[in-house]
Amino acid sequence: MTRPDFVLTDVQVPTCLLVDPDRFGGKPEGGFRRGDLLIRQGRVAGLGHWPDLPRIEGRGRILLPALSDPHVHLDKCHTAHRLPGIGGDLVAAIAAQGRDKARWTETDIRARAERGLEELCAAGVTRVRSHVDWGTGTDPAAVPLAWPVMVDLARDWSDRIDLQLSALIDTPVLADPDTARGIAARIARDGGVLGLFVSLQPDRATAIAAAVDLADSFGLPLDFHVDEGLEPGMNGLSLIAEAMLQHRHLGPVLCGHASSLANLAGADLAATLDKVARAGISVVSLPTTNLYLQHRVTGATPDRRGITRLHELADAGVNVALGCDNVRDAFFPLGTHDLLAILGLAVPALHLDPPFERWLPLVTTNAARAMGAAPVEIDRAGVADLILTEASNMADLLATPGRSRLSSLTPG
Ligand SMILES: [Zn+2]
Repeated sequence: MTRPDFVLTDVQVPTCLLVDPDRFGGKPEGGFRRGDLLIRQGRVAGLGHWPDLPRIEGRGRILLPALSDPHVHLDKCHTAHRLPGIGGDLVAAIAAQGRDKARWTETDIRARAERGLEELCAAGVTRVRSHVDWGTGTDPAAVPLAWPVMVDLARDWSDRIDLQLSALIDTPVLADPDTARGIAARIARDGGVLGLFVSLQPDRATAIAAAVDLADSFGLPLDFHVDEGLEPGMNGLSLIAEAMLQHRHLGPVLCGHASSLANLAGADLAATLDKVARAGISVVSLPTTNLYLQHRVTGATPDRRGITRLHELADAGVNVALGCDNVRDAFFPLGTHDLLAILGLAVPALHLDPPFERWLPLVTTNAARAMGAAPVEIDRAGVADLILTEASNMADLLATPGRSRLSSLTPG
C-alpha cells in the first residue's frame, strides 16, 4: 500500500534522539534540530525544504518517538479506592494488596488493566512491561488468575501497544527444580519475562542463580524487583551482577528499584557500579513508589527517599530508565500511567537539571533497550512511532499535566 507523503512544518526534534543529527538536517537550536519534516512512504526522511505536499502545521512544537515504560503493574492498578486504611511500608503494602486479591476476578482484572492500557496509550506509550504477581493465595507456585487474562490482553491490544509480561515470583518458589522449570516453560510458552522479587530472603543468592539458569535454558529475559528498601545488608543488585558475570549471561536483564544503592558510597559503591555495568544490566528508577513507601517513620517526616543512584549508574555506563510503577494501588494510592509526568516528577526527585531534553532517553531509547527491544530514534522512525506534542519547550512539556500534550499525526 502506498501512503501519501506529507510535510510536518516547523517542528523541533531532540538531537539526543537522532542517530545522525548532521544527516538529518534542520537548524540546530540548543538540544534540538528545527525545520520542516518530510514523511516519505510512511517513514521519517529528514528536515529540509520540500516541494508541494500535504502539510501539517507543526507551529514549533516538539516531536518525540513513542514512549516505552519498562515497569508497571497492570494486575494491581486502580484498586486503591477499595483498600481501607492503607499507608505504610512495603511489607504493609504487600499485605494490603494481598487482602484485595480476594476481590480479583477475570472481569475485575481485565477492566482495571484495560483502563491502565488506555491511559498508557493516551500518554504516548507504545511499549510497556507489566509485572504480574505469581502464585495464588494457597500456592505461591501456581499460575495466578491474572496471568492468562494479561496474556489475552497482550494479544488483544497488540495493534496499539506492545505489552510485555513479567511474572513476579518470590525466591522460595524456585527452590524446587521441577516446579521452577514448569513455571519457566509456561512463561516461555506465553512469550513472557522471568521476574524475581529479591529482598533480604536468606535464599536469594540461590534463587538468583536458579533464575539465570532458567533464563539460559528457556531463552527468557530476566527482570528483578531488587533491594526495594534502605535496610542494611540489601545486596541483591550486587548478587545479580555477580551471577550474570559468572554465567556469562547475555541478557536482557533489568533491575527495578535498587533503592539500597543509596546506602553505598566510596569504594563499595564504585565496585557495585562497575559490576552492574560489566554485567550489562539495565536499571529502572521508580520514583513514585519509592517516595511513598521508603523510610517510613511513624509520625515523622522522611528524610531518606529510597531512590536509586541514577546519576552514578549512568556515569558508570549502566543503561538507566524511568517507569510509572504502581498506579492507584496499595503500593502507591495515587500514581499515573502518564510517563512524561513521571519524567517531570523525576526532575525534583532525582535532580534532573535542565536542559531537560537530555533526559528524554530515560523514557524512550534507554527504556526500550532495558526491555530488550530496539530503540526507536526519530531519524529511523515510521510515522506510527512518532508523537507530536502540544509543547514548544521542555518546561511546558513536563509541567503541563494531562493528555492535551499529545496529538496524532494525520495529514490534512
Ligand atoms: Zn514494581
